[in-house]
Amino acid sequence: MTIDDAPREALRGGPRELLRWVATGAAVSRADLSRLSGLSPSTVSQRVEALISQGLLEETGAGRSRGGRRPRQLAVPTGGAVVGAIDLGAHHARVGALDLSGRVVQARTLPVRIEDGPEAVLGALLTEVATLVHGDPAASSDGSTTGALRGVGIGIPGPVQHATGRIVSPSRMPGWNGFDVAAFCAGRVDVPVIVDNDANLMALGAHRTAHPELDHAVYIKAGTGIGSGVISSGRLHRGAQGSAGDISHCRVVADPAPPCTCGNAGCLEAVASGAALVTALRGQGVPVSDLTGVIRLIDDGDRQATALARQAGRAVGEILAVVVNFFNPQVVAIGGRLADCEPLLASMRATLYERCLPLATQTLLIERVAAGQDVGITGAAHLVIDHVVATA
Ligand SMILES: [Zn+2]
Repeated sequence: MTIDDAPREALRGGPRELLRWVATGAAVSRADLSRLSGLSPSTVSQRVEALISQGLLEETGAGRSRGGRRPRQLAVPTGGAVVGAIDLGAHHARVGALDLSGRVVQARTLPVRIEDGPEAVLGALLTEVATLVHGDPAASSDGSTTGALRGVGIGIPGPVQHATGRIVSPSRMPGWNGFDVAAFCAGRVDVPVIVDNDANLMALGAHRTAHPELDHAVYIKAGTGIGSGVISSGRLHRGAQGSAGDISHCRVVADPAPPCTCGNAGCLEAVASGAALVTALRGQGVPVSDLTGVIRLIDDGDRQATALARQAGRAVGEILAVVVNFFNPQVVAIGGRLADCEPLLASMRATLYERCLPLATQTLLIERVAAGQDVGITGAAHLVIDHVVATA
């Protein structure tokens, strides 16, 4: 089943927003929801009943009494592993089972050989998702609406056409170009499968976890590849086809301009990605085999590796400055394995302040993505949860 972004929910107090208020603790009762949404108590009640019958909300114990009958409290069911999530990377995949509040119930990291091709890789990961979900007793298929698998969210380290779930011209995924991930997975699981690129999932996961109150945010994912995800007016902004935020082939100042996998030269990815740092260090005669080795050299203060990290940070800062001037976000956060490289982060930050309008940086938060290795699967789960709520 191929999923589009579900019915747009622009109206205040739609099911998705009601659920989010309860999930974040902003509301614990129908009265709270009525106050926050401005909707009448009867409309709120109607929507809450619909969410309860879908298993998306539940009524728990009793709230604080104000003299009369103690009011029941609303909550998002937690504990049941009902959403499957896969965050595919170049060498590893993080696979998880999450509950309807977006909390990780079980997760594990598996080694992946992307060159084995989509059928082998995705087939194995879907099997792992099934194991994780069924390994949780609360998720048994006993007929209860809260225990059954609701959907699977998948993040791919390459461009994904959003409407179809198809991969289009990925850089380092031989055999994956044009592959219809959504259709392949739909043949193996009988729940909705939602596919997006990994940077978008990181953006969604980080936004929902750290800054759900901020409406405009940009998240950079700097690992083996480099990309970004954009939150605009509180929602993931994908653009017309799903390529919004893909900064990997924006050109930066570099002399000489290193060749890129896309056929051009001087792309951000060819200068500042983890893969580019490995290539550049090898070119200087440093025997480094992978990104882990590069990060170790930078941490040890190696002169060549540190210089390259600074150059990478400047390149990211240059592109980000254009984005910040154009888009005026409240927060810019960097995640991925290179986010912990101090020299990269410092020169990115310096370039950003140097190149941005004072008005754009006056209150701008520049930070690391704090959510750790589960941020991608958390974003994947939220894609599924949003879809489930929007179609409830
Ligand atoms: Zn390129």
